Amino acid sequence: MTDFFANYTMTINGQAAPELGSIEVLNPANEAVYASAPACTPAQLDEAVDAARRAFPQWAGQSREYRRQRVKALGQAIMDHVEPLAQLLTHEQGKPMFESKIEVMSLGRLLQAQTKIDLPVQVIEENDTRSVESRRVPIGVVGAVVPWNFPLLLAGFKVGPALLTGNSVVLKPSPFTPLTALKIGELAREIIPAGVLNVISGGDELGPLLTAHPNIDKISFTGSTATGRRVLEGVASTLKRLTLELGGNDAAIVLPDVDITHTAAKLFWSAFGNNGQICIATKRLYIHRDIYEPLAEAMVTYARRIKIGDGCEDGVRLGPLSNRPQYGRILALIQDSHDNGHTFLTDSEIPDRLGYFAPITLLDNPPDNSRIVAEEQFGPILPLLKYDEIDEAVARANDCIYGLAGSVWSRDEQRAVEVAARMHTGTVFINHDQYLSPFAPFEGHKQSGFGVEGGVEGMMEYTQSQTFVRGKTAQPAAG
Ligand code: NAD
Repeated sequence: MTDFFANYTMTINGQAAPELGSIEVLNPANEAVYASAPACTPAQLDEAVDAARRAFPQWAGQSREYRRQRVKALGQAIMDHVEPLAQLLTHEQGKPMFESKIEVMSLGRLLQAQTKIDLPVQVIEENDTRSVESRRVPIGVVGAVVPWNFPLLLAGFKVGPALLTGNSVVLKPSPFTPLTALKIGELAREIIPAGVLNVISGGDELGPLLTAHPNIDKISFTGSTATGRRVLEGVASTLKRLTLELGGNDAAIVLPDVDITHTAAKLFWSAFGNNGQICIATKRLYIHRDIYEPLAEAMVTYARRIKIGDGCEDGVRLGPLSNRPQYGRILALIQDSHDNGHTFLTDSEIPDRLGYFAPITLLDNPPDNSRIVAEEQFGPILPLLKYDEIDEAVARANDCIYGLAGSVWSRDEQRAVEVAARMHTGTVFINHDQYLSPFAPFEGHKQSGFGVEGGVEGMMEYTQSQTFVRGKTAQPAAG
């Protein structure tokens, strides 16, 4: 029986690895040490990679149906433990319990949904002389590196496709949120063959060691664009395959015909869900000048109703920020807006209490070159920006190094679709808040990424092509 609230161990070669060092995991709601997690030593990293390498040929040689069954069973084991995993997630990450439950269930469902995606053999040429077929084969050992905002769901977007296509995996969660991933590793020991899924944890030094490791064949990384650039350098010497899912500065464009109250609530959650710590959260809100004041007022009214607190308390809709560095970044952005004389639409006082609590902060039309508009904030602070003409709004939205996602809001769906088609982002939501389908490709344009997660294309990222050219002319008889 797994005890979800004690004994956090790494899974290497299907077993609990000895703890040779440790890192502290803090509860962001009170800044107290919640638990300690193992710090993987370089030798243990080698062991995890060796175990993955040894397990690879047999796992790759299994039938697709067998691998599907194992991944489905892992998804079911997660679904069977939603409550304890969610509690653990809230304690290490800070999000309210209802959101933690959604994340755990989404991981279980994601793994099960991914088993339905197929990469069939493609017949390229078929005639009397030869047949040419293209098939997808696994890459080898995958290093999966995950951030702290959705420690489980984002791991699922990597681990599921990697395993289903026949790769073995070394999964590394963020040092801020390793506990749930370690427990998933523990659940997997009974389900996934030894060495196929290894889960390791450690401090800041572990990520670079993993990405540069000579016996890893592919890195799948989700995190900030700044770290993504370092990962790109880290993999260069070994020419590893690479997927990078990076940062964003998503713009929402609101046309003047929207229903104000309805849209204000939708926009609020598109920006402030998970306390703004969502890669595809709305981070710049462009509002047509005809409705700017009433929509801003409706957003402020909505924000006042939201209960902020410890994610374990009933009725809390927003928890603390997830960790001290992120809290520091948000406080610095609030201070920068004060220093530059921006107008605050909400009270921006920092609560005098333990925990990384920041106020919901709405800013009134700060300049386009201000930090809060130009940078990815990843927290509960949102600039409201006034525009006159749609062409101007689109140009300002696209004037950005990032290209992750964006949204368009209008009663006129056709018009909204036309505007959406002009956005330079991998995903555009039209009258819809954030949604990731297991079956749809998710790709960051510009400096938001490199490669795809999700759907058939996301699955392909864990494979390489192999072409079979078969001669049809009969071999001469023996002797
Ligand atoms: P981060 O880049 O600091 O860390 C991400 C992971 O990389 C962590 O596990 C970390 O330990 C590891 N790491 C750190 N330095 C490394 C290095 N030099 N080499 C290899 N690994 C290293 O990001 P974060 O602060 O954990 O997450 C927030 C960022 O992630 C935001 O920018 C957000 O937009 C982005 N994000 C992107 C997506 C997406 O799908 N595009 C999803 C979620 C979050």
